[in-house]
Amino acid sequence: MNKLRFQAIQDAVSRIPNEFYTDQKKSTLFASHVFNKKVMRTFLTKQAFQEVDQAIEKGKKIDRSVADHVAASMKDWAISMNATHYTHWFQPLTGATAEKHDAFFDIDPYGESLEHFDGSQLVQQEPDASSFPSGGIRNTFEARGYTAWDPSSPAFIYGTTLCIPTIFVSYTGEALDNKTPLLRALHAIDDAATQVAKYFDKHVSRVQATLGWEQEYFLVDKALASSRPDIMLTGRTLVGHPPPKGQQLDDHYFGSIPSRAITFMRELEYECMLLGIPVKTRHNEVAPNQFELAPIFEEANLAVDHNALLMDIMGKTASRHHFKVLLHEKPFAGINGSGKHNNWSLQTSTGVNLLSPGKTPMSNLQFLTFFITTIKAVQNYEDLIRSSIASAGNDHRLGANEAPPAIISVFIGSQLSQVLDDLAQVSKGKLSPKEKTDLKLNVVGKIPEILLDNTDRNRTSPFAFTGNKFEFRAVGSNQNCAIPMTVLNTIVAKQLIDFKRDVDALIKTKKLKKDDAIFNVLREYVKTTKTILFDGDGYSSSWEKEAKRRGLSNLKSTPEALGVWMRDEVIDLFDSMDVMNPIEQKARYEIQLEQYVQCIEIESLVLENLINNQILPTSFKYQQILVQNVVGLKEIYQKDYLNHSHVALETIEKISTLCSTLSAACADLVRARDKANSMSKIEDRAHMYAKNVMPIFDELRTAADGLELIVEDSSWPLAKYRELLFLR
Ligand code: ADP
Ligand code: MG
Repeated sequence: MNKLRFQAIQDAVSRIPNEFYTDQKKSTLFASHVFNKKVMRTFLTKQAFQEVDQAIEKGKKIDRSVADHVAASMKDWAISMNATHYTHWFQPLTGATAEKHDAFFDIDPYGESLEHFDGSQLVQQEPDASSFPSGGIRNTFEARGYTAWDPSSPAFIYGTTLCIPTIFVSYTGEALDNKTPLLRALHAIDDAATQVAKYFDKHVSRVQATLGWEQEYFLVDKALASSRPDIMLTGRTLVGHPPPKGQQLDDHYFGSIPSRAITFMRELEYECMLLGIPVKTRHNEVAPNQFELAPIFEEANLAVDHNALLMDIMGKTASRHHFKVLLHEKPFAGINGSGKHNNWSLQTSTGVNLLSPGKTPMSNLQFLTFFITTIKAVQNYEDLIRSSIASAGNDHRLGANEAPPAIISVFIGSQLSQVLDDLAQVSKGKLSPKEKTDLKLNVVGKIPEILLDNTDRNRTSPFAFTGNKFEFRAVGSNQNCAIPMTVLNTIVAKQLIDFKRDVDALIKTKKLKKDDAIFNVLREYVKTTKTILFDGDGYSSSWEKEAKRRGLSNLKSTPEALGVWMRDEVIDLFDSMDVMNPIEQKARYEIQLEQYVQCIEIESLVLENLINNQILPTSFKYQQILVQNVVGLKEIYQKDYLNHSHVALETIEKISTLCSTLSAACADLVRARDKANSMSKIEDRAHMYAKNVMPIFDELRTAADGLELIVEDSSWPLAKYRELLFLR
């Protein structure tokens, strides 16, 4: 084994930290670093508390004098918790989180200390954020963007900094972040779903979207990862031969978690607890060194913030444990990638989960209404759903033989399919009393039993109904949930508005009773949603053919998928729902294309370096040793030397061939990249990267991995899969 690699492994083993230990009970830890309602009740006056509460619950504006009072209380609380700085915490379009810390105190020119945090700092800030992507909305030389307090997500203390969740918008009001469109989409679904829920219970005053994400990730030793520029710079391995023992045995899945990983998880969970992230489950995933962490679900905006925060905390905590956490969707070729299931549902102000059936036929009709409108929304916008999870990283998962395919379909199980088939038979117009009784007893009435037994979970479906929620499984592990959540909530909101319009029209023009009208509209919806429902094996090649026949999209690369954003219906949809205006959409489209191009360009540069500076030189050195070996054998055996040196000669030959392939493919890579970069339009550049640059990665990898197998282990400079992937 290579000396450096050997040393790194020794270091890794010797550095396994002691147990992480805290004697505080989980219940006292939970949210102890969060300025939530409980803390506000103690720190705010009654009137201020009520105003903030109204802002949280109803989105009401906060009066400036109240903001001053809240800021003062927030600062007192933060200082009592040993915080020294504050920051507006936001999610720019890079998908990551951003913060700029300012101290609470300053010194004035006369040496006196000065307090630095009042309502104006709480409510609005102007970060010097000209380098955040804006897709042309905000020219760097003119208006800057500003961040504005989002009271619906509570402030928290991380380390010694008070973090205030904010939105990030341009002076002309356009969203420069992921949170603003999400909040608008959540507002849209609240309005639309409340209107429909009132058909069933007039006391419903609000509907919240709920989100429970499941975060998958890999842990690798930091020292070993440092030997790999590809992991350090791109978050994934660009070369590397799969180990002889991979995940074939499935012995990692739900197996016991390695003690080093457990220690990391304990500290991570402790940090999450302080910040009010209700983490609940942890377990091994399918691949070696792959794990998952999932919280209890929350209101979607808070859940999105918590996931973004978690990804940040993970990296920092991992570092303290000498790990590097890999959130990339496909860090290792030939080994399962990582996703982030987004479990989604709707919950009323009366505490009812709208995707869960109740005790009465009417509440089950309510369930069917929300269930069917969601399916119809997904059917109408299946390609938009696909585009909401498009990224260079996720392209490695979608369509690969282990993860949800690039085709969006909905799984509901055979029994619910039967319910829908029965519903499709409902007669037109007014229902007879007998038909109504039949429906109530045999169709709607049966739903609760069905759902109790809805264990038939198809793991290959990208969008599955799992008992009381939909589970969007195609989201990538590294993505900010805001975009898929914005899309899903917008399309369902739109469908609910259409549904209400259709039902009201039947009540008004055909004089139908409310439930007759609902049955009639649902019947028509069910008839048109057949093509999106699929219960079979989503990974099979026959499904690709079948999906094509059904007219479903199969957008395999990010540039293809992103094209959907610019379709007229999509622009109209977001515009008419007040979620994004056309300028904001165009900006997002361009930023995402740019990110795609940058990601692959960086990967290609790193790969080129790896090949030219590490893989080829190492291979030549080893080849030289073999050449010397053959020269020596020739001296000893003279004419007979071929009998003794054929293995060495064959290896020399193989190395030559692989090096030539590698070198030629590397030249192709540079040419393809240059050609793509010469395109002036970002769309063209992105498509060229997908079509002409990406395929060369595979060629390079095959040749490089061939060399890894031949060249003596002790000189190979990069930590190998078998070393990276099995924690000790
Ligand atoms: P799985 O088999 O996929 O692990 P679980 O039943 O453990 O399924 O739930 C997975 C996730 O679903 C959890 O994060 C949980 O919080 C979330 N979840 C459960 N109910 C809801 C809901 N009503 N809305 C949103 N997410 C939910
Ligand atoms: Mg799941």
